Formats: sequence, structure tokens, C-alpha cells
Amino acid sequence: MVVDTIRTLKLVSSWVGNRIIQRRRPIIAVFSLTYYCNFYCPMCPFGDPDKSGQIRFAKQNDLTTDQWKLIFEKVSEHCVWSIIEGGEPTSRPDFMELVRYLYGLKMPITLISNCSLLHTIDIQELRKYIQFITCSIDSVYEESYCKVRGVDKATFHRVVKNLKMLKETNFPHYFNSVITKYNTEEFIDQSYFEKAIELGSDAVSLTFVEDRADVNYSLLPDRDTINRVCESILQYSKRNNKPRIMIPDLYFEQILRDGHVTFDECGV
Ligand code: SF4
Repeated sequence: MVVDTIRTLKLVSSWVGNRIIQRRRPIIAVFSLTYYCNFYCPMCPFGDPDKSGQIRFAKQNDLTTDQWKLIFEKVSEHCVWSIIEGGEPTSRPDFMELVRYLYGLKMPITLISNCSLLHTIDIQELRKYIQFITCSIDSVYEESYCKVRGVDKATFHRVVKNLKMLKETNFPHYFNSVITKYNTEEFIDQSYFEKAIELGSDAVSLTFVEDRADVNYSLLPDRDTINRVCESILQYSKRNNKPRIMIPDLYFEQILRDGHVTFDECGV
């Protein structure tokens, strides 16, 4: 732990030094381990319905285990934190090997996952390497969840089971939801928050969907519903500190006032 702190301090001071001489350097590394995802979310390019085509593409284009290891080594000399995402990173057969390797380089790790495959992994071992998991849970209700993520009921229940496993093993995790026209009700009636607490999440991150330029449909709710969602989230965040809402109030205030935000907000 002491060694980790020294490493972090060294890297942060080198980053500050670079900023002073106006050299921009990253401080957080995001590793997108694979193009493949087992879900079908319509707001995401990885939700591609042609799964066999996606698997073929991932096989041809995903970096190999050794290539990732080399990248981890180089990046760990400069960055203080790492985020592992995909596609769905846990779908890689070498997922644990890569996480172990990154941990060996003393990189703190955040995992972003749809949590549908966590039961295929040794969760106790993973707990040793990962600081926390960002769970992509757009809805806490079966019907909306399946609609937003394009999956069947069994998958929803598998995910809920895996979230319970995270809670039981005290694995730090929080929920991330993309608000679309399919899941607004649970934010308006605030039941999403109750369920998040029940499933062990102390914090939630919420952002409205951004429409994709490459498709001809919109998943954004209508204006009136957007306003009701924003008002309800703001009201909840002012009265409650659990789960903590990680997106600043300003995000929802600006949407209410101007219809959009004037800053980049990353849900993760
Ligand atoms: S689970 Fe995440 S990566 Fe997979 S399709 Fe949905 S949004 Fe994209």
C-alpha cells in the first residue's frame, strides 16, 4: 500500500510538471478490451444484433493477451488509475489473466460491466484486484431492463443474482444508468434508488441517452418527461444522500433550463 501511494504521488507530480510546461498527458487510462458484447442495447454500437459477425470481428481485431500486457506496462509508467471496459470485458477468456497482470503493475482498476457474466469468474479473487465495479444497470425492472438492453428475462434475473453476489461479498460497486424513453418511470417515482440500495449500491450515476448519428431512431424521452425526470432526481438528491447521485445537480438544472448541458459529463 505504501509502495502504491509513493507510485501515485510520483506519477501525479510528473503529471503536474507536464501541465506546468503545457504538455498534456493522460492521468487515467481506459482500456477497451474487446469489441464483443453479449447484449443488444440499441443506444450502443456494441449492441450489434449480428453477434456471429461481431465475434468474427472481435477475433480479428481485438488485441491479444500479450499485446495488452505490453500496453499495460507502458501505460502504467504514466497513469495513476485504469478503467477496464469493452464491449463486455468479462467475455474475454483471458479476462482474469489481464486483470491479474494489471494489478501486478500496481494499477488501481475500475471495471465497467453489464454484470451478466460475473458468475463465471472467481469473484473472491477478482475482489483482490479491482477497486470497484461500475454496473451498467439501466433499469431495475424486468420489462424495462429487457427493452433497454435487448435481452431476455433470464438474463435480467441472472444479472440481479450477480448483483446480490456482489453485495454478499462486500464488493464495492455502483450503478450506472442511461435514461431513455424506456426507463423514465422509475426515476420519476424514485423507485430506482430504493432498489439500488437494496442491491448494495451506495452511489448511482445517471445521464440521458445521447442519440447515435448512425441510426435513424431516437431513444430520448419527450421534453415533458425529461423535465419530470430531472425535477425528481434533483428533489431526491437534495433530500437524500444514499445512494449518492454522482452526477452534479448542475447537469439536471441545465437540462431543465436550457434543454441541454454546457459541459461534458461522463456517466462513469
Ligand atoms: S451492455 Fe454496455 S457495451 Fe454492451 S451493448 Fe449494452 S451499453 Fe453496449
